[in-house]
Amino acid sequence: MKITDHIKNSNGKTLFSFEIIPPKKGNSIQELYNNIDPLMEFNPPFIDVTTSREEYVYIDKGNGLLDRKITRMRPGTVGICAAIKHKYNVDTVPHVLCGGFTKEETEYLLVDCHYLGIDNVMALRGDAMSHQKYFEPIEGGNEYAKDLVAQIHNLNCGKYLHDVVEGNNKANFCIGVAGYPEKHLEAPSLQTDLKRLKEKVDAGADYIVTQMFFDNKKYFEFVEAAKNMGINVPIIPGIKPLAVKRHLQLLPQVFRIDLPEELISEIEKCTTNQQVRQVGIEWTIQQSKELLAAGVPVLHYYSMGKSDNIREIAAALF
Ligand code: FAD
Repeated sequence: MKITDHIKNSNGKTLFSFEIIPPKKGNSIQELYNNIDPLMEFNPPFIDVTTSREEYVYIDKGNGLLDRKITRMRPGTVGICAAIKHKYNVDTVPHVLCGGFTKEETEYLLVDCHYLGIDNVMALRGDAMSHQKYFEPIEGGNEYAKDLVAQIHNLNCGKYLHDVVEGNNKANFCIGVAGYPEKHLEAPSLQTDLKRLKEKVDAGADYIVTQMFFDNKKYFEFVEAAKNMGINVPIIPGIKPLAVKRHLQLLPQVFRIDLPEELISEIEKCTTNQQVRQVGIEWTIQQSKELLAAGVPVLHYYSMGKSDNIREIAAALF
């Protein structure tokens, strides 16, 4: 079922959902199941599965030289979505990236999703590769998420690349896109970023999931500004509990987000990561309670491969 239908059918009740990352190549999918199992009692209508960009690895050739190869360390997003959907009878949302994929490869991936009965996809540009300063699309790939949204929307209208299809079996994907309450790190201003967000919605996006934020005021202001911009699709807050002290530096550095002073001082008082984890849980519960009271459509948690803290949070709320 489409995410937008899940939201409509909930009759105003806030839903619980979460995002997981595929295991590293060579590991078992059981690890993922072990993280999903404890969260299923909270009846998530959907689970997101991220996609990672390809990266360089250096193979020792044995003669003092290194061979540079390109590889994806966490492959299998669509397969994982199919496996989870089948095992738990839950909707899954594969993240589809512009970066690293030609439009043709994207089309094949979407056709796979359509055959697998996957009704939702999250359309993202992806980040630059680790050796790049700026994002560069590969030759024949989509440049911005908006272009990817347009490609998916075209498939929904039965328009495949190169106009080569004879049948009329249209896809009907519900399309999610990313939104940034504190603006995307490359955007020159929040207002410009909102205009770009509006372009994604105009291209066919059905809902928005936000980047993590720790101050609800940022989300509420963002939703208001988006409405003023003419964006009328659901805006789902994405939430991450802080779990280790290093997050104080890492999250602002990677995502260019601000952390509230009160949270920073609580974390700085902690002497162990166990204490940090507890502060993260309590902060997230308070944050979630306020969002619940405001009637957000879904509370969407970034699990980053660990579910024990998300479980504690969900148990306090759902
Ligand atoms: P876009 O919407 O294309 O925007 C990228 C930048 O370009 C923005 O600064 C925007 O303002 C600007 N822009 C847009 N259009 C134009 C234009 N026409 N001209 C000039 N500038 C323009 N990354 C992953 O690799 N895998 C994942 O699974 C993943 N999941 C995510 C899930 C969520 C909910 C979020 C919020 C992010 C996720 N990301 C993921 C990170 C995301 O890929 C990065 O934040 C990326 O840098 C931007 O992606 P986007 O889809 O927002 O890009």
